Amino acid sequence: MSGFFARLFGESPRESQFPDSWRTLLAECMPCHRLLDPGEQRRLHAIVGSLLNEKFFEGCNGFEITDRVRLTIASHAALLLLNLETARFPSLKSILVYPDTFIAPRTYEDDLGLVSELDEELVGESWELGAVIFSWREIEEDTRSIGPRNVILHEFAHQIDPMDGNGDWPPHLDGEAIDQWLDGFDCEYARLLKAVQKGSRTFIDEYGAEDPAEFFAVGTETFFNRPRRLQQQHPRLYDAFRTFYRQDPARRMATQAAAGDCGAL
Ligand SMILES: [Zn+2]
Repeated sequence: MSGFFARLFGESPRESQFPDSWRTLLAECMPCHRLLDPGEQRRLHAIVGSLLNEKFFEGCNGFEITDRVRLTIASHAALLLLNLETARFPSLKSILVYPDTFIAPRTYEDDLGLVSELDEELVGESWELGAVIFSWREIEEDTRSIGPRNVILHEFAHQIDPMDGNGDWPPHLDGEAIDQWLDGFDCEYARLLKAVQKGSRTFIDEYGAEDPAEFFAVGTETFFNRPRRLQQQHPRLYDAFRTFYRQDPARRMATQAAAGDCGAL
């Protein structure tokens, strides 16, 4: 696989090398592709080409890795990096795809220190050292339209999250900007915790209250897939993510809505 993509893209993939058949496929498997302007699409295609060249895809339990599978996963991963001058998930080597949910062993410790082991059924998982794992069935459901959930954005957000030690702060954020980012992030995380403890309904998925790393991953999903409502209801968090990712998906969607597309988003 990598040999083909290496021949196609080499070290510096160019837009002209992105096959037309892939453009057609991307329009089907990445619903927000149509929202990107031509310059963004060119950058996205270049990052997709690099990811396909650099990362190893493996089908598990008999699952077949096709161009559609590769492009669906790589394009959503590339969206996160679109305006970041950072390495492309440097610690990630393999992307494992199961046909459906998969089982992972888990160890839990309760408040009394009692340890128990359970098998957990998962749709996605990100490992600090080298792999992300997906259920293709979940990916198909999440990418049929734009949001509210997207397991690819979620797991790749874990790969770049600088707060849980997996990633580095993007170079455009200096010390002061990081402090501002953390202030907004911490404030909104505390707000979600309080709402979940009170049993209130929340716009941001309450799974984000698990810990800051999950809040970052869930927040990333919401930022890209429900940006206009996030901006209305949690403007501070929206601004924090806009600063982090250097993207303004709310404006992108408003532009398309004004043009008569995706008005419901
Ligand atoms: Zn997570």
